[in-house]
Amino acid sequence: MNILDLIFPKKCVWCGETGDYLCKNCKKNLQPHMEICPCCHRYSKDYLTCVDCKSMWNFALDGILIPFSYSWFLKKIILKLKYYHKRDVVDFLIDRVCLAIYANHTLSSKIEKWNVIVSWIPSHWYRKYFVKWYNQSYLLAQNLAKKLNVQYWEFLKKTKNTKSQATLDREWRLKNLKNVFCFQNEKILGNVQTIVLVDDVTTTWSTLNEVAKFIKSKYPKICIRGVVLCRKNS
Ligand SMILES: [Zn+2]
Ligand SMILES: [Zn+2]
Repeated sequence: MNILDLIFPKKCVWCGETGDYLCKNCKKNLQPHMEICPCCHRYSKDYLTCVDCKSMWNFALDGILIPFSYSWFLKKIILKLKYYHKRDVVDFLIDRVCLAIYANHTLSSKIEKWNVIVSWIPSHWYRKYFVKWYNQSYLLAQNLAKKLNVQYWEFLKKTKNTKSQATLDREWRLKNLKNVFCFQNEKILGNVQTIVLVDDVTTTWSTLNEVAKFIKSKYPKICIRGVVLCRKNS
């Protein structure tokens, strides 16, 4: 046990029992999100983008995994990560994310083939160093990759410091992301077949899909699967 755990013991956000962010009993209340297509939100096995949306909307993400349905207690746990910088929350969440990946046959079979990398939505250096000194998507991606025993790689750079997507409507969200990414250290992409793109919480998939679109503009054959913790307002 860590010394900090003795001074500030972790408490279950639901019932207050000490030991973990959610005790064994309350963990039972964590449910996965329904399997949906990230574009039309209709049922879709393994959270894959459905055939209609692929052809009609030119949707770039090949699928998205949502291991948790949104709930007040999950929100409390995620806030600890986002604003209170409790890094050990990541371990707690990633254990569950891994279980969801192993249960997702189309994704887990790709991971077994060793041509998968994990990446995340980059934040602009200004934001990284001056606004918020860490990127929680990066922490999630790094821990997920280690657990899955695959590489994690930052091959994208954000060249503009854009407004927070949460404050914008749909049209501006898309405009906000135009021409803001560029490639860096992209050599690895020559051998990659699948990219698992990690983001924390999302209301829409616009950021993930714009990033996927950008990657596919140069590497159209790479399959891009998003992993988010949960989906708000679902
Ligand atoms: Zn509890
Ligand atoms: Zn669809």
